[in-house]
Amino acid sequence: MRHDIMKQTEFKKKLPVNTVIFTEGDLADCAYIIETGVIGISIQKDGNRLVIAELRDGDLLGEMALIDDQARNATATTLSDVELIIIPKEYIEKKIKQADPTLRFFLQVIMERYRDVHTRLKHVVKHLGNNQDHDDTRNIYNDTKDVVKMLAEEYVQMQERIMAALNSSSTEQENHSRHDQELKYTADILNLDYSLHSAIENREFELYYQPIVDLTSDRIAGCEALIRWHHPKLGFVSPIDFIPVAEENGTIIPIGEWVITEACQALYRFQQVAFQRRSEDNMYMSINLSARQFEGDDLLVKIERILNETPISNKDVKFEITETLLMSNPELAAISLDKLKKLDVSLAIDDFGTGYSSFSYLNRFPIDTLKIDRAFVHTMCENEKSETIVHSLSDLAHSLHMNVIAEGIEIEEERDRLKKFGCDYGQGYYYSKPVTEDVLLTMLAEEVRTENKLKVI
Ligand code: C2E
Ligand code: CA
Ligand code: CA
Repeated sequence: MRHDIMKQTEFKKKLPVNTVIFTEGDLADCAYIIETGVIGISIQKDGNRLVIAELRDGDLLGEMALIDDQARNATATTLSDVELIIIPKEYIEKKIKQADPTLRFFLQVIMERYRDVHTRLKHVVKHLGNNQDHDDTRNIYNDTKDVVKMLAEEYVQMQERIMAALNSSSTEQENHSRHDQELKYTADILNLDYSLHSAIENREFELYYQPIVDLTSDRIAGCEALIRWHHPKLGFVSPIDFIPVAEENGTIIPIGEWVITEACQALYRFQQVAFQRRSEDNMYMSINLSARQFEGDDLLVKIERILNETPISNKDVKFEITETLLMSNPELAAISLDKLKKLDVSLAIDDFGTGYSSFSYLNRFPIDTLKIDRAFVHTMCENEKSETIVHSLSDLAHSLHMNVIAEGIEIEEERDRLKKFGCDYGQGYYYSKPVTEDVLLTMLAEEVRTENKLKVI
């Protein structure tokens, strides 16, 4: 589900001193985290405004009404200039739905108890107001004060118990720094979530390409398209950090489509240069697909349209999918992959060996390529078991008529051993980091130039 509120409003709000953020009785559509500044929480009492709390940097406000769907029970006013992070209601609702059922149950019970104390408190305060003209005012007032005190104590105890449960065996200092870290994490994720909605329009994405090298000829056989995000405020954001957020908020659908379109167009330009080399095989493009992109029927239609619009051969496009994608919904995966194969593209299993590693799917799905994860390649020279795993995986893939790409080759020795095992392709910093289109075009032109030179000799 899309966060329309996130699309429409700002992620942060800057407000000057003496601004009312919300008023008692208002319906709630968001909560706030205070980034800087001080906010007063007040209630109306006997015609006067009574400040009951002051909140500052790092505090959360307005969360109660969000969770239990009731009106605001206090007014929030800025006591200084403030900067707020906005958390929309639908965002919280979605998070609660996704939470572990036990946690969800706990949250529900805690909220009910929390509200119960509040309701009883309100009731007692109201009772106090109604009885002010009574003869026995003094007694009732004292009784009421005791009840208020008791309820306030109950409230504090409850808070303390919750905090103790959450922070068992930590010192106050540790709790404090954890609170800061969690706040920063929440703010960062929300910031990414908001900004992703406008990142394509704002042309903040760029594709980098990492060469995939034929280990026999040492020439570039293909490349993998890897997305880069230049965030206007945060600077470079790694795909490791934003792809999971894009998967969760659904922006992976338009982002994925953008990636496929760009990568196919770039492949055409690479092939224009690469075809001048002596190899009969055309250069290929590997494109990562996320599980979320397979939901709905759109993906296949979009891929077919993009391939039709680009003057490249479908067989030169390879889609990389993970084991997790296959195993999370094997039936859907089988149908989708069969349809993809009908387009004559090729399919690779990415990060092989790090997920479920259930070999059952190797003959169940139409897979052409196995990409052995960097974790094995990286430890291969020091760890005999890793070396055996890489060797065996390579043999296994070949006997199933698949080809093999080893990921994360960083040193010559790794390259040499992989060659010895008969591994087909290699990818890694040893050959090249992911580079811009211009740099890869230069690398390809250099291959053409050196080959021509060889021909002349
Ligand atoms: P991946 O698909 O496993 O991509 C390979 C990652 O390993 C890339 O990180 C690459 O820069 C890095 N790498 C390559 N060679 C080496 C090496 O020799 N040593 C080391 N230490 N690292 C190496 P990157 O570009 O940060 O991408 C991270 C992940 O983000 C990718 O892992 C992929 O899962 C995801 N991703 C990137 N672009 C896309 C995209 O367009 N769509 C989707 N769905 N996911 C993407
Ligand atoms: Ca990949
Ligand atoms: Ca990989």
